[in-house]
Amino acid sequence: MINEEFDAIVIGAGMSGNAAAYTMASDGLKVLQLERGEYPGSKNVQGAIMYANMLEKIVPDFRDDAPLERHLVEQRLWVMDETSHTGIHYRSEDFNEVKPNRYTIIRAQFDKWFSRKVREAGATVLCETTVTELVRDGNGKVIGVRTDRAGGAIYADVVVLAEGVCGLLGTRGGLRKMLKPEAVALAVKEMHFLPEEIVEQRFGVKGSEGCVIEAVGTISHGMAGLGFLYTNKESISLGIGCLVSDFTAKMESPYTLLDALKHHPSIRPLIAGSEVKEYAAHLIPEGGYKAIPQLFGDGWVVVGDAAQLNNAIHREGSNLAMTSGRIAAEAIIQVKRRNDPMTKRNLALYKTMLDESFVVKDLRKYKDMPSLLHNNAGNFFTTYPKLMSQAAQNFMRVDGTPKIDKEKATTAAFIKARSRLGLVSDAIRLALAWR
Ligand SMILES: Cc1cc2nc3c(=O)[nH]c(=O)nc-3n(C[C@H](O)[C@H](O)[C@H](O)COP(=O)(O)OP(=O)(O)OC[C@H]3O[C@@H](n4cnc5c(N)ncnc54)[C@H](O)[C@@H]3O)c2cc1C
Repeated sequence: MINEEFDAIVIGAGMSGNAAAYTMASDGLKVLQLERGEYPGSKNVQGAIMYANMLEKIVPDFRDDAPLERHLVEQRLWVMDETSHTGIHYRSEDFNEVKPNRYTIIRAQFDKWFSRKVREAGATVLCETTVTELVRDGNGKVIGVRTDRAGGAIYADVVVLAEGVCGLLGTRGGLRKMLKPEAVALAVKEMHFLPEEIVEQRFGVKGSEGCVIEAVGTISHGMAGLGFLYTNKESISLGIGCLVSDFTAKMESPYTLLDALKHHPSIRPLIAGSEVKEYAAHLIPEGGYKAIPQLFGDGWVVVGDAAQLNNAIHREGSNLAMTSGRIAAEAIIQVKRRNDPMTKRNLALYKTMLDESFVVKDLRKYKDMPSLLHNNAGNFFTTYPKLMSQAAQNFMRVDGTPKIDKEKATTAAFIKARSRLGLVSDAIRLALAWR
């Protein structure tokens, strides 16, 4: 099929693969990128909030032509029970800056744009090409790949695995272990189309301003999970995800949760009259710092979701993917410039550089948080949201009950639900995990 030899082969044309391929090709490396989808983005799912800072470090002038939906000026964080939401809303005019910080995007369009940049930078991009196997030399060093196309192996000095969360090549190749159901969430998402002016009226935004809602609570039926609603120009992305292990244990289906979320009294009016045109489901790595596998070896590095680099607490993934892709590429460029071989020892530079970045620092900071939330899902996602709603309603309802009795009732409700010891221990564990 392809007889040329490449400096690098990148597997996957998602956020991490495009970042890696673009960075290396821009520096003059001979790069081949292989994507199994019909076009880049055709297989990819995201909420999606895209973080400008991380893309700017790769394509500084991306705002000139990238397909961006809305820049975010408002974020709502909701804790929900069956009939209510208690929320923190943050909105600032400061977010109407010349170079906004966060945008909503539609991945199918965005990935196509990013891939065009990769091609313009000089990489060869082949879609509808699934990498089926890593090729190794007699010493076990990865020296290329085999694909589902006719022909033999394709060779390169280094292979960048940017194959996404399932990472079948890496697991099959023995580079890392299979995903654990308790370390991965399954999220489902629908695109609700509405006229632009309706989106703007409902969310109090104008022009390209956008608003997002992220929600936890009884909407996840006692499982560790998160719901989200993101405004695009003429559509709303609505979705929810929970741990795969919880879905299995509770015998729940993701679509049942999404359906209930759509009918929640706080959400229903926001999507009323919309036309659903897309439905997607995808996994999200949520094991945190402890789930990060070996990141490099003889002739290979792994980036993005395939490396489990996802910050479930802050709901960030694409920025970690882009950054790890860029950093892996920069490490490869340095090794190449020194004319050193792409050995495990030399590619360790990637991990050294990644450890110094926000990617690993953030994941390390919250290293105990995923397991705390996952193991106490009933308390954090059902008991406390209900108590918060009761407390807020008790506080706001004026019915002649003396305030002192209302305060006592709220305290009693918390203690009845969790006991003093349980409350104190949850608070301490949360504070320790958050510190
Ligand atoms: C519902 C949902 C909402 C999300 N919301 C957000 C959000 O709002 N903000 C955010 O920052 N992150 C979000 N994320 C996470 C974000 O989508 C991921 O972190 C990001 O897409 C990871 O990029 P990646 O390049 O590592 O993997 P992907 O984007 O998954 O790309 C992997 C690519 O590799 C290709 N591939 C796989 N195997 C092969 C093979 N053998 N041969 C060839 N090609 C192959 C795939 O087709 C795919 O194109 C969300 C995720 C989900 C599921």
